[in-house]
Amino acid sequence: MDGTCSALITGAGIAGLTAASALARRGWRVEVIEAGGEAATTGWGLSLTGPSLRALDALGLADRCLARGYGMSVITNVDLEGAETTIGLPRLIGRDRPAMAGIARPELHRILRAEALRLGVRIHYGLSVSRLLPGNGGAQAELTDSTTRTADLLVGADGIRSTVRDLLGRSAPIRYHGQMVWRALVPRPGWATGIHTFAGSRHQTGVVPISASRAYVFLTENGVRPDVLPDAVLAPRMAELLAPFTGRVAEIRPHVARSGSIVRRPVQTAFVDAPWSDGPSVLIGDAAHAPSPQLASGAALAIEDGVILAEELDRRQDIRKALEAFVDRRRERCELLVETSVTIAALEQAQRHRDAYPLIEACHRRMARPA
Ligand SMILES: Cc1cc2nc3c(=O)[nH]c(=O)nc-3n(C[C@H](O)[C@H](O)[C@H](O)COP(=O)(O)OP(=O)(O)OC[C@H]3O[C@@H](n4cnc5c(N)ncnc54)[C@H](O)[C@@H]3O)c2cc1C
Repeated sequence: MDGTCSALITGAGIAGLTAASALARRGWRVEVIEAGGEAATTGWGLSLTGPSLRALDALGLADRCLARGYGMSVITNVDLEGAETTIGLPRLIGRDRPAMAGIARPELHRILRAEALRLGVRIHYGLSVSRLLPGNGGAQAELTDSTTRTADLLVGADGIRSTVRDLLGRSAPIRYHGQMVWRALVPRPGWATGIHTFAGSRHQTGVVPISASRAYVFLTENGVRPDVLPDAVLAPRMAELLAPFTGRVAEIRPHVARSGSIVRRPVQTAFVDAPWSDGPSVLIGDAAHAPSPQLASGAALAIEDGVILAEELDRRQDIRKALEAFVDRRRERCELLVETSVTIAALEQAQRHRDAYPLIEACHRRMARPA
């Protein structure tokens, strides 16, 4: 009514909250609906790579993430024979700031949520979309509380199992790649000033600092069914899987065995081959393109999506054309990342770590180019 454009965003995850802030900064009236609760984000950590920090910096949030997380610039890979190779990551937000950061997921979530609220975004929890209605130019949706919303733009940022994607009639088969990823929070070892990965004869593991005092240990278990294990067996089972590793991993294993904060997730990917936009609606983040965790870049793509979506909408009067331009700009980069992550998952399972390392490095360098 006041000439301001309005957006309804489904999903208050990384993509949804960054898109909300990016649009609100450009004067949009934004409402976010989130199916889960306010404190639903579980406690494992996340690596924010250079492109993530660059996109967060565009929203004025990189320094907050660095202050609440742990800045670092080197990945050290230790192969089966114990030989170390290091990857020096490009510093995309200036030589005086680190190349990347590790951060606890709830911390990142608090930063993104606080910024969205500061910018006037309204966030509703326990609410989702049940039906898309034919809109008169804009988007119209019926929500799960039986109310309807009309907005100029509808953003589906509701993750790899996106409901909006289904409602738009876009399919994206969720592919399981035979691996389960384990994560446990541990005290940060003094030597963990960057990411360390360790190849094993069956599985891979690694350590990522997320604050001065904490780190998470990840373990990628190969050749396993994506079953759910009872919470009580997670710590002893993860410690058992770490048992063949010696050296630095053996040092942190007792902390894993005692950890009460272990999560285990399937390595899976999804990619929407069809256009991600449909009239005034668009898919972003994992709803459109979900890579496997190996490249630690799903959040980077999600944050970039939010920033670039707002940029493209700012450039054009016509929302549909802006969404098409957004998809054109994003598709190749996101597809490359998803497919490279699939290749790396396969190389890891074939114990071809020496082939995987250069591919990971090349992908990080490619991602360092402007989005
Ligand atoms: C084990 C693991 C480790 C990872 N590690 C990293 C890493 O180190 N670095 C990195 O960059 N990326 C990593 N990723 C990838 C990263 O987590 C995702 O790419 C990122 O979270 C995608 O953000 P998103 O907002 O699109 O989706 P999500 O984070 O999944 O958020 C979607 C939100 O939508 C909500 N939602 C779902 N359905 C509905 C609905 N119907 N209505 C309303 N709301 C809904 C959900 O509750 C959620 O809050 C990892 C992924 C996994 C699985």
